[in-house]
Amino acid sequence: MRSDMLFGITEEAFSSFLLQANRRTLAETIRFFFEADDQTIEELRAWAGKARDKMYGKRVFFRALIEFSSWCKNDCYYCGLQRSNQNAVRYRLSDDEIISCCRTAYERGIRTFVLQSGEDPSYSDFRLCRLITEIKEQFPDSAVTLSVGERSPDSYQRLFDAGADRYLLRHESANEDHYRKLHPPTQRLCDRKRCLFHLKEIGYEVGTGFMVDSPDQTNETLADDFIFLRELKPDMIGIGPFIPHHDTRFAGYEFPSAKHTLILLSLIRVMLPGVLLPATTALAAADDRGFEKGLMAGANVLMPNASPLKHRDAYALYDHKPNEGKGTIEQWHQWVHWVESLGLQPDFSRGDSKMKQMDGER
Ligand code: SAM
Repeated sequence: MRSDMLFGITEEAFSSFLLQANRRTLAETIRFFFEADDQTIEELRAWAGKARDKMYGKRVFFRALIEFSSWCKNDCYYCGLQRSNQNAVRYRLSDDEIISCCRTAYERGIRTFVLQSGEDPSYSDFRLCRLITEIKEQFPDSAVTLSVGERSPDSYQRLFDAGADRYLLRHESANEDHYRKLHPPTQRLCDRKRCLFHLKEIGYEVGTGFMVDSPDQTNETLADDFIFLRELKPDMIGIGPFIPHHDTRFAGYEFPSAKHTLILLSLIRVMLPGVLLPATTALAAADDRGFEKGLMAGANVLMPNASPLKHRDAYALYDHKPNEGKGTIEQWHQWVHWVESLGLQPDFSRGDSKMKQMDGER
């Protein structure tokens, strides 16, 4: 990849290039942008903005994030909620507490609730189905997104039949060796991928993603992530910087900058223009202006934290997670204001993905 190759080509041509590039070319392209000057990155950002506008216009969708349990049976090496972290504070929300969080968000106009937790076996299919049914009864014009980890195909089917619309499950890394550096041997990339394909087959809108600058990540492992995204064609892609947590084996890693995440957001937007792309909380943790910069890089989703204030500190995936102020449901009016000030348009509808439409066109 050379910089002169970029001049004069359209974002559509660059999109086709990214969709067809092999692993080596993708890795070189990622390296090229990581090392590029500000003007080149600005060009990439402009392409990403155009790609987003063509699919979604200037709309920015809001999702209320409800972190309902900090218990986890997994041991992801990077995560503060990992089972072996004896210092983690554990909590679970009751069904009533979860519904009350949904109501708060609903009253502010938000029509998507993202229910996220560690992998907590105490939320059985029965319990989750009952909860989803109740939410759908009380807030019928809303979408329910689950992010509760790996489950069996039958379980995913039951939750879908109960009314769940979307499912977020990051693949974390599509490279086997890299995945093994981030997880214990009991957690396998092939299981993760299988879950994602099952979810898609059932009919969920599916979200996946990965951390940026995670330990041992390289441009080549990122190329594998891009190839997997091309194969899965998810509806949503959540990426955010890896941020070390002090109680994990990666505690000594450097606090990240937002730079690589912003570049990858733009590349993903150009490659798959129909995806929903959040400007994540981790991006805002890495950079005070992370939300704004994420939106300017091609993101089009914001996920205000709507969990009960008293539990937010305990949902500690990484250090310095912002739990108050910007990025929370309490800052409602400011969100609207600053999205508008970026020339974008806050949209509180369900905000379904355009990925299927794009898929059909290809
Ligand atoms: N248990 C569910 C699952 O596994 O999909 C959802 C909860 S999990 C804690 C949500 C996401 O947090 C993970 O997919 C991971 O990418 C992200 N995460 C965990 N630790 C992180 C860290 N140290 N820095 C940035 N993101 C992190």
